Amino acid sequence: MNNWLNNFIRPKIRSLVGTQKDVPDNLWDKCPSCDNMVFHRELTENDFVCHHCDFHMAISAEDRLALMFDGGKYSRHKNKSVPADPLKFKDRKKYADRLKDTRAKTNEDDAIIIASGKIGGNPVVIALFNFKFMGGSMGAAVGEGIVTAAEIAVKTKSALIAVPASGGARMQEGAISLMQMPRTIIAVNRVKKARLPYIVLLTNPTTGGVSASFAMVGDIHIAEPGATIGFAGKRVIQETIREELPDDFQTAEYLLEHGMVDMVVPRAELNAVIGQALSLLMNTKIADNPKGKKSKTTKNTENGKSVVSVASVSSSGEKMEAVNEDAARSAVKKSA
Ligand SMILES: [Zn+2]
Repeated sequence: MNNWLNNFIRPKIRSLVGTQKDVPDNLWDKCPSCDNMVFHRELTENDFVCHHCDFHMAISAEDRLALMFDGGKYSRHKNKSVPADPLKFKDRKKYADRLKDTRAKTNEDDAIIIASGKIGGNPVVIALFNFKFMGGSMGAAVGEGIVTAAEIAVKTKSALIAVPASGGARMQEGAISLMQMPRTIIAVNRVKKARLPYIVLLTNPTTGGVSASFAMVGDIHIAEPGATIGFAGKRVIQETIREELPDDFQTAEYLLEHGMVDMVVPRAELNAVIGQALSLLMNTKIADNPKGKKSKTTKNTENGKSVVSVASVSSSGEKMEAVNEDAARSAVKKSA
């Protein structure tokens, strides 16, 4: 009876009335920063940046890769497999079950994605965190992903870009997750030894063991506007040192002012800015900025400090006289 209703009557009624299925459920999104309603399609077209207040919302791993690589083209690489649940950990739920559920939900093996392609015409390997996979927490698989990405970068003479979005270490893997900190540092050092650029794009949030390891040793640190970047939480620090901390503490902009971040770059300009920086570092011809956008919110604290830092970390330093001044200026706008 029920089947007959579902399989026969309902489609009949649908075909008579016309389905409403092509109207998506989530036409509008609310901006968490300014509370304005934003049309979902506009948000997608604007790389999930609120056009009222420029707030950078969370963006999926696929969308981020597409906006970073030239023409949105890239290929993915398989991560090496690691022992799952080595400690047989269990809290309210078994870690093994938690992993299984998250894998089914996200269609990913773990919180790291390795992809390669070109940025500004330069060969690049990106190790990108998927925050949707257990908060982008770093366990053995994520560590393995950074090592694999670094190995591919060295083998293919590509730049390595790490894009963290992580709450820190994966507690279910205990000390093994902490071991990923020195491990990832050794991995990115191999890239540096091969005289290839290593860039970190700090996205919201970059905290805990990730910010205390490979994410803070880049040749250039780029951050997205408004991203939270820090080790321990603000409240914990405040209670420990018994001092009031500024409102913008642990934001990308605060870290730019205090020298931990070299550039704060809006999402729409990431491809162009990273492309120019890589061309300077890898001594390739600087590609014309296809979108013709200038970095408007990229600013700097001291006179051209970023330009100096770009030059000083060049992996093939002796040819820096070839630097195109105009490109350098638009890549890192000097402060007035
Ligand atoms: Zn907004």
